[in-house]
Amino acid sequence: MSSKKPSRLQSSLSFRLTLWYAGIFALSSFIAFLLFYALITAVIREKTDQDLSNQASQFSSVLRERGIRAVENFALLEAQAAGEKKVFLRLLYPSGEAFSSSNMAYWKDIAIRKSAIAQLLGGSNQVWETVILDARRDQVRILYAMIGPGVILQIGQSMENYARIIDAFQGLFLTTMALLVGLATGVGWFMARRAVSGVTAITRTAQGISAGTLEKRVPVRDRGDEIDQLAMTFNQMLDRIQTLVTEIRQMGDNIAHDLKSPLTRIRGMAEITLTTGESLSGYQAMAASAIEECDRLLDMINTMLMISRTEAGVDRPIREEIDLACLIRDACNLFRTMAEDKGLTLDCDIPERCSITGDIRAIQRMLANLVDNAIKYTASGGTVRVVMPEWSENNTVITVTDTGCGISEADLPHIFERFYRCDQSRSRSGTGLGLSLARAIARAHGGDISVESRPGHGSAFTVSLPAA
Ligand code: ADP
Repeated sequence: MSSKKPSRLQSSLSFRLTLWYAGIFALSSFIAFLLFYALITAVIREKTDQDLSNQASQFSSVLRERGIRAVENFALLEAQAAGEKKVFLRLLYPSGEAFSSSNMAYWKDIAIRKSAIAQLLGGSNQVWETVILDARRDQVRILYAMIGPGVILQIGQSMENYARIIDAFQGLFLTTMALLVGLATGVGWFMARRAVSGVTAITRTAQGISAGTLEKRVPVRDRGDEIDQLAMTFNQMLDRIQTLVTEIRQMGDNIAHDLKSPLTRIRGMAEITLTTGESLSGYQAMAASAIEECDRLLDMINTMLMISRTEAGVDRPIREEIDLACLIRDACNLFRTMAEDKGLTLDCDIPERCSITGDIRAIQRMLANLVDNAIKYTASGGTVRVVMPEWSENNTVITVTDTGCGISEADLPHIFERFYRCDQSRSRSGTGLGLSLARAIARAHGGDISVESRPGHGSAFTVSLPAA
């Protein structure tokens, strides 16, 4: 058995839409035709029956008023007037035997139906019959009516004229339908092509991207339709992917750079120690420096992992009730010596108690990063302040301000990015990961961190932590 694969045209959406469009159009036209056809034939039949019935009433009046001879003459005249090939009339006895008729040469195939006569004798006023004359492809509508005591009229009328009207109607319909279905197919194809042209553009862009050009964008045609929405969503997705790819590349460069320096240092130290044939104390010093460098590296790698896991939601913060005021006080006490050594004032203006739910270790780490930075980037004589301007059941806000070097407008949007370090800070120790981690922790708690800074005057980092 061979299963034939549909051709490209057959499997295309435009082709299938056109087929549906033309199919539905043809089907609805056909149904309309059937209804119209049924209506026309019903109207025609009703009109014919009405004519025949009126004639039977006339015969009945003639019989009543002028007798049987007059009826016979009237029948002949009526048949001649209407045309002997259109109408025939027979006058019958109740036995079914004809005693008078119009010229029946053309109608010799029409029999007298005994059952119809029996029905009349049984009490029916009129009995109807439709006879199909196969030889002439003609239909004859026949009425049997009792027009007087013992006198039955059989009157028949050819439906040929009406059949011609219906034939003409059929012909007209078929031609019109063929034209309209052709037109519908053309219009359907045009509309389907127009509708899917946007999708084709998106496919082409996607193909271009798989070939390696992330800069390409799908043209948006400003029609505001579904295709435009798809194109806009696709473009937004591409923007996001491009940003992510750039960030990943940049991060890769930064990681490579930040790993390279300590590794080069460790290698250099080891090489010097080996070539200069150092004493035991020399080896010990080298090993201590190597451990220190390795610790820094491990710390950096662990921080990177922690940021990734916190951002990805893998490390969900533990939700426990903590006294934030107490945590801040502890952090300030821890950093006070460091601040004083640097000649700074560390102020801590916080309420007695402030309960929040969160991850104690993560919050500690976030606070430590912010206070550490404030001390690190503030020169001797300056002040670092940790305050809580808001602490309610719904939201808690912590602000860490300093009178340090501040951050330039150009650097401000980037300081929360991984490994980003402002130029002026490169001489100081640090990895460029502290603020990324702090923000990831704040966000994992449903909050965020914002910053305001004036270069040369200081910075203010504001952490908001909504109630869980
Ligand atoms: P780092 O390890 O370099 O401190 P962070 O991620 O903590 O890394 O900070 C990123 C950069 O933001 C820092 O290199 C520094 O340039 C700037 N920065 C952070 N906090 C402050 C601050 N309080 N004052 C001035 N600059 C700051």
